[in-house]
Amino acid sequence: MSLINETHDPALRSWVASANQPGHDFPIQNLPFASVRRRGTGEPFRGGVAIGDAIVDLAALHRAHPFDGLAAEALAAGAEPQLNALMGLGPAHWSALRLALSRALREGSALCAVVEPCLMPRAEAEYGLPARIGDYTDFYSSIHHATNIGRLFRPDNPLLPNYTWVPIGYHGRSSSIGVSPQVFRRPRGQIKAPDTAAPVLAPSRRLDIELELGVFVGPGNALGEPIPVAEAEAHVFGIVLLNDWSARDIQAWEYQPLGPFLAKNFATTISPWVVTLEALAPFRVPFERSADHPPPLPYLDDPRLREQGAVDIQLDIAWQTVRMAEQGLPPHPVAQTNYRHAYWTLAQMVAHHTVNGCNLQPGDLLGTGTLSGPRSDQAAAFIELTQGGKQPLTLPSGEARTFLEDGDTVVLRGWCEAPGAVRIGFGECRGTVLPAPSGQ
Ligand code: CA
Repeated sequence: MSLINETHDPALRSWVASANQPGHDFPIQNLPFASVRRRGTGEPFRGGVAIGDAIVDLAALHRAHPFDGLAAEALAAGAEPQLNALMGLGPAHWSALRLALSRALREGSALCAVVEPCLMPRAEAEYGLPARIGDYTDFYSSIHHATNIGRLFRPDNPLLPNYTWVPIGYHGRSSSIGVSPQVFRRPRGQIKAPDTAAPVLAPSRRLDIELELGVFVGPGNALGEPIPVAEAEAHVFGIVLLNDWSARDIQAWEYQPLGPFLAKNFATTISPWVVTLEALAPFRVPFERSADHPPPLPYLDDPRLREQGAVDIQLDIAWQTVRMAEQGLPPHPVAQTNYRHAYWTLAQMVAHHTVNGCNLQPGDLLGTGTLSGPRSDQAAAFIELTQGGKQPLTLPSGEARTFLEDGDTVVLRGWCEAPGAVRIGFGECRGTVLPAPSGQ
């Protein structure tokens, strides 16, 4: 678990003036990583670090050789088109690079003249996936979501008895993961209405979102060698926002007996900026279990987890229709939740995933699962917010929505605030739904 150090000092200011604006997502205390290039140039992607309204081009900085030791090794890895090599190096390298960048970007730094030519305006950037994602696993860490959705699918039996013991997950598909802003077609699939004898192939009419966080794995483990829970966070590079678009009508027909399949694998959107665990250190909070739930089995328990195993990340869902965009109305907030409500933590996901010997690799992505909170206005999917599609939401354009219509855009945002710390943000995760492909 990373500790507070000089890079978190709230008094730090950058010579990149925009980074000092209160409320900015990317102050000098954040320093998240992405895969970037100048939009429309066709240049190779390379690693970048956000600072205010600018990006430090890590390939350009690497050519200037401003650092030495572990920081120089990490910078060389960060200069590659995607961040797998940097992710694979581990916390000592990540921390050395963060410290070197923090010192180079501070007001009065002697390296200002070296770093300044390596900046590009963030407004001119386009993003690639931060890593080659070899494997993607989606967990189910909100007991509130599990209970709410269970009630809709199984009214008599909302929360299955294994939930409080075992972190539930399934192996997802990485080929359809895209970086924000992602545009994708409405999926078609087998849909069976309750009052018909046979399913039909049709475009989904119950296209939904799932607000999640995505966890990028750092150093992996050898096949057959589990990662102990106390060491699990050393295998986590950082966190992005994740939207697990979900076709509820396809899901309802296909999900038994083997779980999610075509209802989920047509698109998943992640935000471009990976916020490191070290940047999140000031926002750690205790991992708590109420007395009426079983304590985690020993392989999922650790005293340090109980002290600060959870992370206080505020999360926001906003919806924008085509008409709203035409009227100049911004995406409208429809729900807010927080990662601190998760039933299973980052470390428990990693420890459980590997307890059977399964090997993780640098750049693998773990979804947290839909992060609904305890209150109904903290639901992180439209199926929950609209009571299964029965209670439409009204948007500022006067339009009513239960599920997504063609042309709708959903924007997820995340940020962290705590006393004595500078607010940091995740940027946004944006996706837009196009009409289903034509065909039979
Ligand atoms: Ca999910």
